[in-house]
Amino acid sequence: MKKYNFNAGPSVLPNETVKNTIQAIENFAGTGLGLMEVSHRSKEFQAVVDEAVVLFKELLNIPEGYSVLFLGGGASLQFCMIPYNLLEKKAAYLNTGTWANKALKEAGLFGEAVEVASSKEANYSYIPKKYTVPADADYFHITTNNTIFGTEIHTDIDSPVPLVADMSSDIFSRPVDVSKYGVIYGGAQKNLAPAGVTFVIVKDELLGKVNRPIPTMLDYRTHIKDGSMFNTPPVVPVYAALQTLKWLKALGGVKEMYKRNKEKADLLYAEIDRNKLFKGTAAVEDRSLMNICFVMNDEYKGLEDDFYKLATAKGMVGIKGHRSVGGFRASTYNALPKEAVEALVACMQAFESQHK
Ligand SMILES: *Cc1c(COP(=O)(O)O)cnc(C)c1O
Repeated sequence: MKKYNFNAGPSVLPNETVKNTIQAIENFAGTGLGLMEVSHRSKEFQAVVDEAVVLFKELLNIPEGYSVLFLGGGASLQFCMIPYNLLEKKAAYLNTGTWANKALKEAGLFGEAVEVASSKEANYSYIPKKYTVPADADYFHITTNNTIFGTEIHTDIDSPVPLVADMSSDIFSRPVDVSKYGVIYGGAQKNLAPAGVTFVIVKDELLGKVNRPIPTMLDYRTHIKDGSMFNTPPVVPVYAALQTLKWLKALGGVKEMYKRNKEKADLLYAEIDRNKLFKGTAAVEDRSLMNICFVMNDEYKGLEDDFYKLATAKGMVGIKGHRSVGGFRASTYNALPKEAVEALVACMQAFESQHK
């Protein structure tokens, strides 16, 4: 049976990414050797890294003065690398959920970490809009898409201090004005590649200002200087990321992606709002285009297991909500075809007619 992959991460990737990577694992760039069995310093692999950097810059329209890095450690390592490299005295954080919270906690190890606002009291169901970023903060950290709670910051906000953004789960889903950011980072395993590689886009002029020794591997300058080749990069995930970037470019880039993502999300939210059995959990204006969270209306709560069973029988995978929200979460990342969302909507309608 056809499976529809709504997993939150690791998650669905383009067919091309999977097929090309399998092929390269067997025979990389015509070398007759497998991708996992050649030197990362070979000219063939260097070409992969170079092209991935070029495509990052092209697809996101990254201005001069920024570096693109491919590192290990996941987005979670960035939670400490960012304050290590940028926090001298004080940093500001917007607390919009689990990941934002983890980032905030790490910053506290390096200096004063100010929580400018939080939506914790409402189980992170909205993005706080009224807050003041201290003018003397070294940076302001946001999480643009809250994977667990299904909220998203849809615009590139204005910040009085360098803006640092965790874009793990919405990178390449829409156009972004990179010039408004000091750092953009994320784990690859939501919208780009298998787990193992972390992308970091960093404005060079922000570095070298803190007064503390930084371990070599945790210093962005090490990786800028050596073009992400200070040590062995995760070669297979980097190769896969390049395939996804090529796929994105061929489809028309982030503008086209945004159009498709909006169509998919509109379709599912319209059904959530129409269907009397279900309701969305996120504030309407902050609804994520990538992670769509919904629960059963109170009078139908007892039917959640039945709906889950029906959806599973119809090929839906990964729609169980995160334990901190409950209900359901459909992740509609770039590589998820519209057909999958249509199948889920049809399933919700079929379930409704069974319970008239
Ligand atoms: C998944 C996720 C993370 C964690 O990423 P790792 O690469 O597993 O460390 C951090 N932030 C957001 C927004 C995420 O979705």
